[in-house]
Amino acid sequence: MSIIIHNISKKFGAFTALNNINLNIPTGHLVALLGPSGCGKTTLLRIIAGLETADTGKVEFEGDDYFSPVVYGKRIGFVFQHYALFRHMNVFENVAFGLRVKPRKSRLSKAEIKDRVFSLLRLVQMEHLSDHYPGQLSGGQRQRVALARVLAIEPKVLLLDEPFGALDARVRQELRRWLKKLHDEIHVTSIFVTHDQEEAMEVADQVVVMNEGKIEQVGTPEEVYHKPASGFVYNFLGNVNLFHGRIEHGQIHIGEISMEWPENELVINEDSHEQLKTATVFLRPHLLEIDKSPNYKSSFRAKIKHINAAGSQVKIELVASWGDSIVAEISHERFKELQLKKNMEVYVSFDKQNLFITPGLLT
Ligand code: ATP
Repeated sequence: MSIIIHNISKKFGAFTALNNINLNIPTGHLVALLGPSGCGKTTLLRIIAGLETADTGKVEFEGDDYFSPVVYGKRIGFVFQHYALFRHMNVFENVAFGLRVKPRKSRLSKAEIKDRVFSLLRLVQMEHLSDHYPGQLSGGQRQRVALARVLAIEPKVLLLDEPFGALDARVRQELRRWLKKLHDEIHVTSIFVTHDQEEAMEVADQVVVMNEGKIEQVGTPEEVYHKPASGFVYNFLGNVNLFHGRIEHGQIHIGEISMEWPENELVINEDSHEQLKTATVFLRPHLLEIDKSPNYKSSFRAKIKHINAAGSQVKIELVASWGDSIVAEISHERFKELQLKKNMEVYVSFDKQNLFITPGLLT
């Protein structure tokens, strides 16, 4: 079932939570709504679920008007951050619940319910704990049971609101891989809300990046990461160094570096005089290089403030000659080769083509 969202806006009092949202979610896709806290992700999900009403606009499922009685018959599964399992029922009974409360006419037989529940428990790898109660399960296990319970009603659409939000980092990582695999098997159209960019990039086919009630960009994880539509998207999707530059005579000046203004890539707001004079330059830490002498690329002097070698890359914090703090990430090999130490003066360089530049000052 596909979901088409037309011109959805929502205010809470004078506050605009959603501002003219348009989105098309094709059948079988797994879409992440990603954005900082308060950007409107949950409000949008709740409107899709019918738990909240929009002020304007509408949500259509496969072309039918959502609010028509026909569509109410089409099932929507909702999983929240806090696993809402029945505490007095064991795992089997929790998953069977939705099947047992169906009207007699459409209810499966006892044996069929048992088969269905066990096949779902196998799918979420919880078969061996079918007689356990929620209190005897870990957070990750409870969340998997919550998913199995929702899947029991054979939803056409699955909505997940920060489903792994309450879990620790390692379990989150495991469960997101598991969710991706599960989705590959069952192909139900799914939307999940997250503020964790790694989670969205790893799990989703399509990422919807939201900011202040609006959609900044919709694209595959590769598209939003490598071709960000705005400084906000670039900044939100990974670690970033952010520099404020001055523009004069067709050049951008940042500290001691001057570069040509890449005018083709910039849309300048003609109304704002200030924006014409300033630019924000973004660059990811792994795109910076460190040398002991200036190299052929754009380079500037910096002093090493802190070194963290406890990861897959060595993270080096520096202060540029004009006072800005910078983070660079280099390989362990390169780190050993350069024999870098705290307080050492080095040259930091980058390829101009790797810069992401937007007019005006962003913080
Ligand atoms: P988070 O990741 O923190 O859950 P979110 O992106 O899901 O954030 P929403 O829960 O959609 O954000 O909320 C968007 C904005 O609308 C927030 O500023 C929130 O305070 C406000 N808001 C949400 N629900 C209500 C409500 N019932 N009454 C008043 N304001 C609300």
